[in-house]
Amino acid sequence: MPLNELKAVDYLKLIRKREISVEQTVKDILKQIDRLEQTLKAYLYINREGALQEAKAIDKKISSGEDIPPLAGLPIAIKDNICTKGIETTCASKMLKGFIPPYDATVIKKIKEAGGIIIGKNNLDEFAMGSSTENSAFQTTLNPWDITRVPGGSSGGSAAAVAAHEALIAIGTDTGGSVRIPASFCGIVGLKPTYGRVSRYGVIPYASSMDNVGVLGKVVEDTALLMNIICGYDDYDSTSADTPVPDFLLSCREGINDLKFGVPREFFGPQVDIEIKEKVKEAINKIEQMGGKLEEISLPYSEYSFPTYYLIVSAEAGSGLARFDGVQYGLRIEDNDNLEDMYKKTRSKGFGAEVLYRIIMGTYALSAGNYDDYYLRAQKVRTLIRKDFENAFRKVDLLVCPTSPELPFKKGRQQKDLLAQFLPDAHIIPVSLAGLPGLSLNCGFSKKVQLPIGLQIIGRPFEEEKVLRAAYNLEIELKEVNSVQPNFTFNSVSG
Ligand code: GLN
Repeated sequence: MPLNELKAVDYLKLIRKREISVEQTVKDILKQIDRLEQTLKAYLYINREGALQEAKAIDKKISSGEDIPPLAGLPIAIKDNICTKGIETTCASKMLKGFIPPYDATVIKKIKEAGGIIIGKNNLDEFAMGSSTENSAFQTTLNPWDITRVPGGSSGGSAAAVAAHEALIAIGTDTGGSVRIPASFCGIVGLKPTYGRVSRYGVIPYASSMDNVGVLGKVVEDTALLMNIICGYDDYDSTSADTPVPDFLLSCREGINDLKFGVPREFFGPQVDIEIKEKVKEAINKIEQMGGKLEEISLPYSEYSFPTYYLIVSAEAGSGLARFDGVQYGLRIEDNDNLEDMYKKTRSKGFGAEVLYRIIMGTYALSAGNYDDYYLRAQKVRTLIRKDFENAFRKVDLLVCPTSPELPFKKGRQQKDLLAQFLPDAHIIPVSLAGLPGLSLNCGFSKKVQLPIGLQIIGRPFEEEKVLRAAYNLEIELKEVNSVQPNFTFNSVSG
């Protein structure tokens, strides 16, 4: 098997036994990238030389008998809204083209200290705004299962890279589903931890009260493995939580007899594709057979999630993105009459349409006279949505539902219907508004065109351990279902 097809946990075992080398693994990944990238377009930057150099250095350490760091040269792909020292970080925006951060985000620092290797930077929806990766200013990533469809977003580049074996694992961000939706659309595992679990220092903000760093892995164990490295309190992020970090890899292997699962009625309504409903229900039956207890629950306020979420994120983005004014970072239009004209020209040229829509909407919601009617009201509804979950978690430990109510959709849909881009978000944004951990696990495929179907497992704050444990056990039950791989017959097709 080419080494790029390994799971991260298996890779680390083989490295420890000295059966494979880091360099060969990086080379196999680069080979796959060369074969597929022309079509897939998952990467904005490939760290070819850097990754090979680091691989050789780690191999040398290993062969000289030095201690092996926990990630031992594991090649990791990084979403391009996370600052990487000396490597261009663009947020897939013209605004940040050419921005080379002078420092690493905390999550990158931790990965490097653990011996991980940055293989490249992944495409995303500009400033992480979108659910299809079509909002990137530079390129559209395609879904490895069907290249006429989108990989989900906004971490679509990261998910496609992992699904297509162009990376062993990836780091993304999830504000309102951006790890879970692409994981679902690409048939892999995606975990958004509890708000505050992972430091956001060095992650370019979209909506600060909801931004999270998350992991995209081929299997649940890989995700748990990386969580062990990236979680924890950080002096540089005042919202990061000083909560003990368990050994997720160890604990996920325990059984689920003690767990009670809630099935939210609202997430199985007519909005859900019939095949998705069927596969998720089959998986829920498996949970019951494995000893998990089930109970139907209700999240009545979740139907107000769309206006609540989009109002809050737009308001936060509108004020947060004010920093991009041509003075400190990235783009500046030099042909201007005065300072105000420079701001206007830079911001109009630098931001794409979707980002501009949201800035305008957010500024409107925050302006005098509107604040109480929109922003404040949305915050109140957010509390009601969170209370729904609190009530549910008094009765059950976890919730299970479809990650997305629809299958990966065709590229270009949002050009015809702008609002359609929000459809996949229905079951994930309530979780984001409540700051809870959520994981997407593949639980089957649609019949006509073989497209992945994701199941979301939601937990109480800081109970990722239970989420991962349930996912790990269910993944074993679904082994046969999930043994299918994309066929990559598009390698000769030019995008
Ligand atoms: N669809 C969501 C949005 O556009 C995804 C955001 C995210 O998680 N970064 O806001």
